[in-house]
Amino acid sequence: MNIRMIQHYMYCPRRYALLEINRDWAENAFVVNADLMHEHVHDGSHHFSDSKKVVRSAVDVYNDLPEYDLFGIADCVEFVKDKNGVAINGLSGTYKVQIVEYKPKAPKGAAFLETDAIQVFAQKVCADFVWKCSSEAFLYYADIRKRVALPFNDEYETYDAMLKKYIGEMHDIMENHTIPSRKKGQKCSGCSIADLCFPKENKYIVRDIVMSMKEAEMS
Ligand code: SF4
Repeated sequence: MNIRMIQHYMYCPRRYALLEINRDWAENAFVVNADLMHEHVHDGSHHFSDSKKVVRSAVDVYNDLPEYDLFGIADCVEFVKDKNGVAINGLSGTYKVQIVEYKPKAPKGAAFLETDAIQVFAQKVCADFVWKCSSEAFLYYADIRKRVALPFNDEYETYDAMLKKYIGEMHDIMENHTIPSRKKGQKCSGCSIADLCFPKENKYIVRDIVMSMKEAEMS
């Protein structure tokens, strides 16, 4: 499962299902703004090293333990020299591993912070698996130019339970091919696929349409 999808699911389970089952997609200003920022972060200009640390952007990470089965790209990973750290392939010495995820805007409420944090926790689970370490993690909010440390190592069990719960719910949706109804109180104003979510015509599931077309061809 791609880590990016966890954030879609947490924002709105219906959005996740429309993207993954229907393959619906549309962009809006929020999506383009976030994409532009990530393009900038991933363009290689953030690669950096000095006597204290090595910084890499757009780093592939994964964890193929069955309870996670995750992969994705970390915006930025900093390898900070530390005599109590771990060895990193291709680097000499030992390092502590720090993940930094870039976000265009700081969240307005705790629920949004949790959405951002779970996505980074999934990256941490992958980074810890790849580098056999206990990485630290941060969110960087571009609008306020602030780095926020995430409390994963103190609250590991809590975040791990949340991540596994979301992964289980996402698997259920994919296995059952169900598109959940809109959640009560769901905020939709920033959603790029709102026009697809509330079609003016009858409700539809693209997969069902394609399957019935195939059945018609074969009969
Ligand atoms: S419009 Fe609202 S309910 Fe529909 S997918 Fe987007 S956020 Fe979810």
